This record gives sequence, C-alpha cells and structure tokens, in this order.
Amino acid sequence: MKNVSDFFGCKVFDDRVMKANLSAKVYQSLRKTIDEGAKLDIGVANAVAAAMKEWAVGHGATHYTHWFQPLTGVTAEKHDSFISPSPDGGVIMEFSGKELIKGEPDASSFPSGGLRATFEARGYTAWDPTSYAFIKGNTLCIPTAFCSYGGEALDKKTPLLRSMEALNKQAIRILHLFGNDDVKCVRTSVGPEQEYFLITEEMYKQRRDLRFTGRTLFGAKPPKGQEMDDHYFGVIKPRVAAYMEELNEELWKLGILAKTEHNEVAPAQHELAPIYTTTNIATDHNQLTMEIMQKVAAKHGLVCLLHEKPFAGVNGSGKHNNWSLATDGGVNLLSPGETPYENAQFLLFLCAVIKAVDDYQDLLRLSVATAGNDHRLGANEAPPAVISIFLGEELNAVLEAIETGTPYAGTEKKQMKLGVDVLPKFNRDTTDRNRTSPFAFTGNKFEFRMLGSSNSIACANIMLNSAVAESLKIYADRLEKAENFEEVLHEMIRKTIKDHKHVIFNGNGYDDIWIKDATEKRGLLNYRTTPDCMPHLLDEKNVQMLTSHRVFSEAELKSRCEIMLENYCKTVLIEANTMIDMAKTEIAPAVGAYILELANTAAAKKVVDDSISCGYEAGLLKKLARLEEQIAVKTDELEEAVMKLKDAGDIESESYMIRDTVLGKMGELRVACDEAETMTAKKYWPFPTYGDLLFGVK
Ligand code: ADP
Ligand code: MG
Repeated sequence: MKNVSDFFGCKVFDDRVMKANLSAKVYQSLRKTIDEGAKLDIGVANAVAAAMKEWAVGHGATHYTHWFQPLTGVTAEKHDSFISPSPDGGVIMEFSGKELIKGEPDASSFPSGGLRATFEARGYTAWDPTSYAFIKGNTLCIPTAFCSYGGEALDKKTPLLRSMEALNKQAIRILHLFGNDDVKCVRTSVGPEQEYFLITEEMYKQRRDLRFTGRTLFGAKPPKGQEMDDHYFGVIKPRVAAYMEELNEELWKLGILAKTEHNEVAPAQHELAPIYTTTNIATDHNQLTMEIMQKVAAKHGLVCLLHEKPFAGVNGSGKHNNWSLATDGGVNLLSPGETPYENAQFLLFLCAVIKAVDDYQDLLRLSVATAGNDHRLGANEAPPAVISIFLGEELNAVLEAIETGTPYAGTEKKQMKLGVDVLPKFNRDTTDRNRTSPFAFTGNKFEFRMLGSSNSIACANIMLNSAVAESLKIYADRLEKAENFEEVLHEMIRKTIKDHKHVIFNGNGYDDIWIKDATEKRGLLNYRTTPDCMPHLLDEKNVQMLTSHRVFSEAELKSRCEIMLENYCKTVLIEANTMIDMAKTEIAPAVGAYILELANTAAAKKVVDDSISCGYEAGLLKKLARLEEQIAVKTDELEEAVMKLKDAGDIESESYMIRDTVLGKMGELRVACDEAETMTAKKYWPFPTYGDLLFGVK
C-alpha cells in the first residue's frame, strides 16, 4: 500500500516548497501577494523564479509554460525551454522573474470576438500567484491570466478573479456591519463533482462521430440501458478500478484532492469528486482533472468522454458546482451558526443568494449554455432549464415564518425574531435529498447542478459571485445608513423573502407540471437553448451589474457573447457535417449491402425451388429500401439546411437557424438511420452500437 502523504502534491510548487526554498524575506513578500494581492517587486519575482526553476529542474522539467484558459474551453500552453546558450558553447538553464511574471504567446488564433484585430495579435499572459505552479510531464506550468494589450480579458480566469474580488469587497462590508472587524478577506470555495463516461479506445476509434464531436450522432437504443439502475453505486469493474486508482494518484501528485469515486446512473458512467477549495484553484484543478482523466484513460486503452450527452436516451454528464463562501478565519457564511447573531448574518447571506439567483436567472442559465448542454437541460434527467432554488422543508418553514410574522413551528412554537432567536440546526440529510433542483441548499453550501460535464466552472462562478456581490452591495448600502440596524435588517430579509419566494421550489424539478407552473404562474425564465439565452448577456440590467462590479467591460461582454454563439454554431455545424459524411459513406452503403444480400438470398431460394417463400427477405427488403430512400432524402435536406447558413448574415441569426432548422433535420436523419440499424445484419453495420459501447468495458 502506497502512502499518499509521501507523494501528495509532489509536483506542485506549493507553500511547503516555497517555505523550504525561499529566503524568509522573499517568502513573506510572496505570501503578501498571494493573500492580500500586494504588488510583487521584480527582485522578489527573480528570487521566486530562480527557486522555481531549481525545484522544477530537480523534478525533471526542461521546459516551462504559461498555462491559461482561453475562451475555447480548453487550456492552452506554449512551451519554452529553460535552456540558454552559455559562452563556453554549452547550455545553462535559465528562468527570470520577468519570464515568470509575463509571457507573450502569439494570441492571434485564440477567439477574441473582435476585441483584438488579428494584425495586433499579441496578447500577454500574467502570472496568477494565487494558484500554485506545477509540473506536467517535463514542463513547469505557471497558471496565468490572459489579456489583450488593451487590458481586456481574453480568458476565463481574469473575470473569475475579478468576480471573487467583487464578492470579497461587498461581503466584508456586511461582516463589518455585524461587528466582525477582524475579517480581512472572504473567499468563495467550490467542490465540483465531475461525471464522465469510459469506453474502450478500440470502439471509439471506429466511430467518426465520437472522434470529431465527442458524442454519438447515431445509435439505436440498446436492449438493455439504464432501466435496471444496477450500475448506480454498483461494483466497479476491474479495468475501471485500475483506471481510477491511477487517476487518483496522478491527481494527488498535482495536489488535487480527488476524494470519492463511484459509478453513476448510466452504464459506463462514473463520477469523481474532489475536496472543495478556493474557487480560483478549484477551477484550475478541474481543468487539470479533465485533462488528466483523458490522459490516464489512454494509458488503459480507454477513452474518457466528457461530453454532456454522449448517448441519446441515456443520462448525460454534468458537473455539480458546490459553492460556499468563507472568511479568512475559516467561518463558512452559509452555515447557520449557533447563536442568534450568527443566524441573522446567515439569513442575510442566504437571502443575498436567493435574490441573486432570482434577479440573474438569465446569467446563471447562460453561464452553462453550450450546444452540448442543451441536450441535457430540460431532458428528463438533469435539472430543467428553469432555474429555481431548493431550500428544504425546515429552512423553508423558517423563511415563511419570518415573512408572515407567524410563529415558527419548529422545535418550539414561537415567533422568529432576528438577532434574538436561535435557528434550529438544519439536518443535512433532509436538505440534500432533492436531486432534481438546479440550485439546492445542502446544509452549509449551495449546489448548482446545471453545469455540463465539459464546461469550465469559471463561467458559472463568475456569474454567481457577481450576482451575489450585487445583492450584498444593495444590502450594505442600506444597512450602513440604517439608524436602527436590527429593524432595517429584519425588514430587508422579510422583503427579500416576499419578493423572491417565487424562485424557491421544493418539489420535483423533472415534472412537466412544474415547468408549466414555473413559467406561467411564477414567471420564471425558461431558456431552452443557447441561442435563446446567450443574447441576454447584453441586456441592460446585466451589463450594468457586471460592469459596475468591474467584472467585465462592455466590450468584453460583447466579445464573449459573440464567441459563445460562434462556439455553438461551429459545434453543431461540425456535428451536421459529420452526420452527412457518416450517412453517405458508411450507413447508406451498409444498408445497401444488406439489401443486396437479402435480394441474393431470395433469388437463391427461387433457383432451388420456385415454391420456397421469400416473404421474410421481401418484407425486410421493402422496409430497408424505404429507409434507404429516407436516409438519402434526409441527408439532402440536412445538407441544404447547412448550405443556407451562409446567408445568415450575423452570428445571432445563424444560431437561430441552427436551432430552428439544422438541429431538426439532424434529428430526422438520425431517426431513419437508427431504424435501419435495428434491421440491418450486425456484420454490415459500420461501427459499434450503443450496446457495444455502453457494455464494452469489462
Ligand atoms: P454529496 O453531494 O455527494 O452528498 P458532499 O456534500 O459531501 O457529497 O460533497 C460534494 C462536494 O461538495 C465535494 O466536492 C465537497 O468537497 C464539496 N463541499 C463540501 N462542503 C463544501 C463547502 N463548504 N463549500 C464548497 N464545497 C463543499
Ligand atoms: Mg452533490
């Protein structure tokens, strides 16, 4: 048995390494930068760079890279060697403070949504000292933010850090009002639970749809799916167990606290949960986790699918963003606490979240919008596209009592008075039971469940942090001026509950009746697709809020909206073209070949004896011929719909055309092909079926 503590974080330039390898003065100065955002002077940067290089080279690194998260959704890196020529003809390993702090990747081919004309292609990367550097392969990776020369963010980390700062600022105002003067900093923490599928590499290679798009574009329902629920928390197969073991080890070496792993609802589906950490680091770690998941899979002859909906008719994969906020002293502000004063503070933070989620439903929805996640949200598995909050019965009863001024029927029947009464302890198990809510309170944190499995968690957290910062700002503005603090506080909490209770829903979120009720009676938003929600990023109220907290500039918002819609269009277009290609060159020929075999069989029978029945062949042949025709027609129609996109004019119109015509045509072509699959002899079918893929890993 290996001792994890011997190698945990061995590839990370973390606090332990810093302390051991930096002079006390340099270490303290760096800590000040990490903890308080103090400016780093070049002397310190040089010393840190030198120590970092020594350490990295000692661990086998030969290169370094500024590691960043452009708007493509993956991470980017450009490797530079430490090597510099020395006067005697040899080489020395060099790395300066300047190289640590700032890099200049050629940024021209990263999406910028018009922010940076390609002729002034240079953007720069800036070291983010709050996230530790680490070694991957032979490369020292330095987490960085990525900006244009004008200072506009071209990545996901920059606005994330800004949103954390915005929330920190407003939360501290509130805490000081409650007399917590010693609190210096409030940070949000996230623990993202990550779902994924594992299939064999051999089968993966045979499917162009998986290779080009990450999901299956064809595939009839297998005889056995997830209906038995026998996979959920079931015994982990040996090959998968070996994979998980190595994955954990690799993650631990990188200081990532991968903790639990289990099978999920769908066959071949699994989940990994890390222990939560500061949002910024959790985001970097999740990005790394996804990368390592795929790398380790390759070593085991497997492929890890991170797509939101790799298989139609089978549960998709999501990511649960467990979110809370805590002070530098470690106090979780979403924990109800044990004294009345803490309770009042807790209720205020709770209200801030409720208000934020209600006021900015659109931002939360669009923060998780991608072509892939559109297949999941609103289907009968993941949370719906309507955002609501689950609080659990107990907490709900408390809020109701406050709103109506009636006695709380909890442990003792008495009127709730803030700042006087103690709240009951909320039973974590009762609050956690609802799995259908998009945004659930789970005892001392909220779980935002709408994220897709391949989403960066940055986007959702940027919106969540900003929206909560806005609620807190409104509260702080009022409370700071209040003559009677307790009275104003009580009234504000009461009013928030009254104004926003329509977003609280404790029932079954999968229920169709709920969607009707939510949209028609409660007036909640239901943006089913990416084109429906994304343009709302530029709604005046959203631009106003996000710019006022300096999370985004207006130009950055415009560019992001464009990039997200562009990503959507490109993704679906690649899928459509892959379908056309597979239908024409693989599926139609396979059906044709089987038709020929049926005809030959029938003819052979007739040669032997004219009275032998050919009913089976004739019946099947007729059906298949009709489907073959259908496949041809539907392929043409899809091609035509794709061609028409050229006339769209702008990206928003193009996204609407995709939503309204292309996706429908893809669906129709799929139906014909999937039906043909169920009738065509297996030996002719050109790629592995759902049954093969889902039950292929032993
Ligand atoms: P489950 O949701 O499966 O019941 P847990 O609630 O224990 O499991 O944890 C789910 C995830 O939530 C884990 O990644 C965990 O680290 C994270 N988590 C737990 N507490 C917090 C917190 N205060 N803030 C953010 N994430 C948290
Ligand atoms: Mg959970």
